[in-house]
Amino acid sequence: MIELGTQSDIKLINEDGLRIDGRKFNELRPIRIEVGVLNRADGSAYIEWGGNKVLVAVYGPREAFPKHTQNPSRAIINARYNMAAFSVDERKRPGPDRRAVEISKVIGEALECAVFTEQFPRTSIDVYIEVLQADAGTRIAGLTAASVALVDAGIPMKDLVVGCASGKIDGKVVLDLNKEEDNFGQADLPMAIIPRTQEIVLLQMDGNMTRDELEEAVELSKKAAMYISDLQKEALLAKYKASESEKEGERSE
Ligand code: UDP
Repeated sequence: MIELGTQSDIKLINEDGLRIDGRKFNELRPIRIEVGVLNRADGSAYIEWGGNKVLVAVYGPREAFPKHTQNPSRAIINARYNMAAFSVDERKRPGPDRRAVEISKVIGEALECAVFTEQFPRTSIDVYIEVLQADAGTRIAGLTAASVALVDAGIPMKDLVVGCASGKIDGKVVLDLNKEEDNFGQADLPMAIIPRTQEIVLLQMDGNMTRDELEEAVELSKKAAMYISDLQKEALLAKYKASESEKEGERSE
C-alpha cells in the first residue's frame, strides 16, 4: 500500500522501472478464470484478475419481456454491471448509479458485436455481472468473464470478446492499471477486442494521452488480449474435460 497524497508527489514507477506492485510496464496482474460455477444459470463464469473478483451469470436466449422490448430480427443483450456494497474500501451505496448504467451499456454493446443475435429474434440474453471485490479494471474483467459465460450458455459467437486496459502513469504507458495507478496516474484506457477479427468493440479513456501514447496503449492491450484469450479457452476446455470425465466415471460405474 502506498501513502495517499496528491498526484504529483506519488511515485508509481521506481528507479528500476518497476511499478508499485513489482510489475514491469507490459505485465498483467495474475488472471484466473473458472467456468460453470453457478448451477441455476444457463452459463456462468468467475474471474480473479489481480485484486478484482467478479462473478457472471447468463440467462437465455429467452423470450424478451416486456414484449415491447422485443426486436423481431434479433436478440437483445441486457448486461447489468453491479458492484457489491462490500467490493470497495468505502462502502458503496447499493443499487445502480450513473457509472453502473454506463458500464452496463458499453459491456452489452461490446458483447453484441460478437454474438450471432440474428439467430434468436424476439429474445433477450441477460448477462449479470457482479463485482465482489474491486481493484480497478472491473469493467474489462467483467466483460472478459461475461464472454466466457455466454459460451458456457451455448450461445453462438464469432469469437470470445477480451477486455484489457492500459494507461499512463508517471508519464509512461503501462498495461493493466491497479487501483493506486488508476487513482494517481494520468490516464486509463479500457478496451475490448475480438481476437479473430481484431475488431475493437470497446474503447474508453479517462484522463489525457497524446495520440502516440494512445496508439502505444492500444498495442499493449492488443498483445495482452491474445494471451487472455488463451486463458479463456483453457478455462472452457477445463470445464468440458471435467464434465466428460465425470460422465465417463458414471458410465463405468
Ligand atoms: N471504485 C470505488 N468506488 C466506486 C467506483 C469505483 O472505489 O463507487 C474503484 C474500484 O476499485 C474500481 C476503480 O475505482 O475498480 C476504478 O473505477 P473505474 O470507474 O475506472 O472502473 P473500472 O476500472 O473498475 O472498470
